[in-house]
Amino acid sequence: MTDTQSHAHICEISDIKSIGTHSDPQHLETEEKLRNHIIQHDINSCKRSISGDSIYICPWKGCNKYQSSIIKLEEHLRQHTQ
Ligand SMILES: [Zn+2]
Ligand SMILES: [Zn+2]
Repeated sequence: MTDTQSHAHICEISDIKSIGTHSDPQHLETEEKLRNHIIQHDINSCKRSISGDSIYICPWKGCNKYQSSIIKLEEHLRQHTQ
């Protein structure tokens, strides 16, 4: 029994105003391709300053979670690709 259709590999990053942004979700064939795709997004541009503290807002559509460092945001984004 094949199970290839049950896992969608979709990038729903849509809020980054930088090179590589797409307004529609991007479908990738495999999880590996999805991850390689996601690292092409410039997640540095997710950085925001609130009361002098830097936070990184998740650019994933409908997520709106934020992390305290870019490393944590990268880790968080992995959750969206599993
Ligand atoms: Zn993308
Ligand atoms: Zn998220």
